[in-house]
Amino acid sequence: MRISEELLDQVRAEAAAVAPKECCGLLLSREAGEIDAIEPYPGPLFENRFKLSDEWLLRQHYRCKSAGTKVVGYYHSHPSTSPKPSKRDFREHPPGSFGLIVGKNGAVELFFVGDKAEQENSLNVDQMEGTGIVSFS
Ligand SMILES: [Zn+2]
Repeated sequence: MRISEELLDQVRAEAAAVAPKECCGLLLSREAGEIDAIEPYPGPLFENRFKLSDEWLLRQHYRCKSAGTKVVGYYHSHPSTSPKPSKRDFREHPPGSFGLIVGKNGAVELFFVGDKAEQENSLNVDQMEGTGIVSFS
């Protein structure tokens, strides 16, 4: 899964703007293997957790469908800790979805939630210098 450094910077800027609350939103993909857009959640936002409303999510799924893009996961921030996903983060991401977390100091971690809880695993960030693309494998 790839994501551009420019898009990561958008998430970092959003995280910084709402700290100490956690920012959150959708990871969108038009082409398999690449996260090419994000959709920020308008709130309400909270400290130490994030929650996307079911109504907003449903609306976004319809909007994305007609726009030819797909929701592949969620992003959120950890304003004062590392980007390591918590047990709760794994629980709150549906099976088959990606999660992206921006931690303190802009560090990023992407994880994938498999069909079974035991398949949860964090992907390593593989920064490709100079390309503006960050790949996770
Ligand atoms: Zn979290």
